Amino acid sequence: MPELPEVQTVINGLTQKVLGKEIKEIIKLRPGTVIWQNPVTSLGNINSISRRGKYILIQTSKDLILVIHLRMTGKLIFETDLAKTSDHARAELVFSDNTKLIFNDVRAFGKIQIVKINEEIEAFQKLGLEPLSDEFDAQYLKNKLKNRKAPIKNILLDQRVISGLGNIYVAEILFRSKIDPRVPGNRLKKKQLESIVSETKTVLKEAIKHNGTTISDFRSVENKTGDFQNFLNVYHKEYCKCGHRIKRIKQAGRSTYYCPVCQK
Ligand SMILES: [Zn+2]
Repeated sequence: MPELPEVQTVINGLTQKVLGKEIKEIIKLRPGTVIWQNPVTSLGNINSISRRGKYILIQTSKDLILVIHLRMTGKLIFETDLAKTSDHARAELVFSDNTKLIFNDVRAFGKIQIVKINEEIEAFQKLGLEPLSDEFDAQYLKNKLKNRKAPIKNILLDQRVISGLGNIYVAEILFRSKIDPRVPGNRLKKKQLESIVSETKTVLKEAIKHNGTTISDFRSVENKTGDFQNFLNVYHKEYCKCGHRIKRIKQAGRSTYYCPVCQK
């Protein structure tokens, strides 16, 4: 699933390719992907493209916001040939200059919700802080972890605590912080919290610089892979750089990778 750096990579690509373009219409190719009851024609020009957690926000001159979540396998592919399509196209944003953006999604969990600019976006109300914001610091994390006995790995995946992290980056952040992913959240010391905060910011910034991580099928708008997978220390790895074998366990149904020697 695309996490914050992959979503940001998609946004950087979109900004280059479609910012300013006029959305002539949205073609719905699968019921349920586009959530909007009104006509999907002449939605205005794209004024800004931004991110909240793992959501892409496309704001138009008609005071509409397209809220896009890629979920497991969603991709936005820029296409200059209107006749071209792709195998799992669920919707298409057609621009007035005869280019388009294909929303391709194999598993079809992704959504494009359209809202008016002043409308509350329900999904955003419970989202935790942006990890790259200044407000995300050790004190914030301390408050959030108070009384939480769940393993730190599971808590960092909780979008209500920090928005944008997923399985790949949490594994990397905990490795770099030298913290065992099974440690209960409320047992972490101040130094460890500071370490999680600073490693989170560093890892995410590095990953954005490398256009995200492509383990299976992440692609940017230009259909390019990311290359941060080459810099990961534990996720999908067999051996740690210390020489010890990486351990793979299940936590809340998800795979966790860690080094039992380096992370204690
Ligand atoms: Zn190690």
